[in-house]
Amino acid sequence: MKKTMMAAVFESVGKVSLKEVEVPKIEKTSDIILEVEACSICGTDVHIMSVPPGYIASPNTILGHELVGKVVQIGEEVTSIKIGDRVVVNPNDYCGVCEFCLANQPNHCKNIKPMGIDYDGGFAEYVKISEKTAHKISSDLPSEIAVFAEPLACVINGAQKIKAQPGDTVLVIGGGPIGQIFIQVMKAAGAKVICSEISELRRDFALKSGADDVINPLEHDLEAFTKKCFPTGADIVIDVVGSQMSEAIKAVKKCGKVLLFGVNTQAHPEITQSQIIFKEITIFGTWLANATFPLAVKMLESGVLNLETLITHTMPLADLEKGLDILRKGEGIELIINLI
Ligand SMILES: [Zn+2]
Ligand SMILES: [Zn+2]
Repeated sequence: MKKTMMAAVFESVGKVSLKEVEVPKIEKTSDIILEVEACSICGTDVHIMSVPPGYIASPNTILGHELVGKVVQIGEEVTSIKIGDRVVVNPNDYCGVCEFCLANQPNHCKNIKPMGIDYDGGFAEYVKISEKTAHKISSDLPSEIAVFAEPLACVINGAQKIKAQPGDTVLVIGGGPIGQIFIQVMKAAGAKVICSEISELRRDFALKSGADDVINPLEHDLEAFTKKCFPTGADIVIDVVGSQMSEAIKAVKKCGKVLLFGVNTQAHPEITQSQIIFKEITIFGTWLANATFPLAVKMLESGVLNLETLITHTMPLADLEKGLDILRKGEGIELIINLI
């Protein structure tokens, strides 16, 4: 194996550099080294690179956390994965022994370590991961589809809380990559789905994802539109934006469910608390993926979703900054960096 590799290193606020660094080495007996096939650009990467940053990453860390790769080296105690396997990775490494890990809630691990933020990630030719975060995929799943495993695992964690049934009516607020995946998962569950999104490009993609109708909330009233589509309100409202809770409460049906997925730490929406009581609404928060990777892999391999339609750009590592810019401006949906 080579000694050095190209990697996109987060250096300091607003600065990422493409440079030659050492190839990671096996240190612990549970370590695995992957040759990265592809890694997609996530909204979190855009937040990390913003000035001031919307998400704080450790300086000198290689970015990227939505990846697929081929196993090239394994530590001596690795038993579930062998050299040559292809895997997707849960980028939030967990300790396995804290109170939350023992309760099967690794997304709340007290010692959680996010890849591409606190340890080196997938915008590189090679990456080191731990065995418990690796999930095997079939040899013929295209890498452009496999990179959806992480966002899909997070969507499934939310979807398992709201339990959409065939015939349910769903409003998805926000049509970025996660919103599009929610639309597809809700359609696959047999729901009727509408999407609220300010960008025309994303509204077009929402229709391609299977949304029954779309709305620009800057031009039309969301509550009125929802009630035009679903006269008593939506059974389920999903906020992928991170600031739309009061809109969600207005649009949801009596006894309906609201799922809060998007994160915006600056948002302090004004909530009419009594509405939650009068309407008997259930509100769920959902955070990261929680033991949902196996199901995400199964869904990707089954082909039940239409994720290839979401891929707007594939590019080499050298174009990462260009890709971050496209995503920041909302001019793409799924942007994938191909490493091989
Ligand atoms: Zn992500
Ligand atoms: Zn833990």
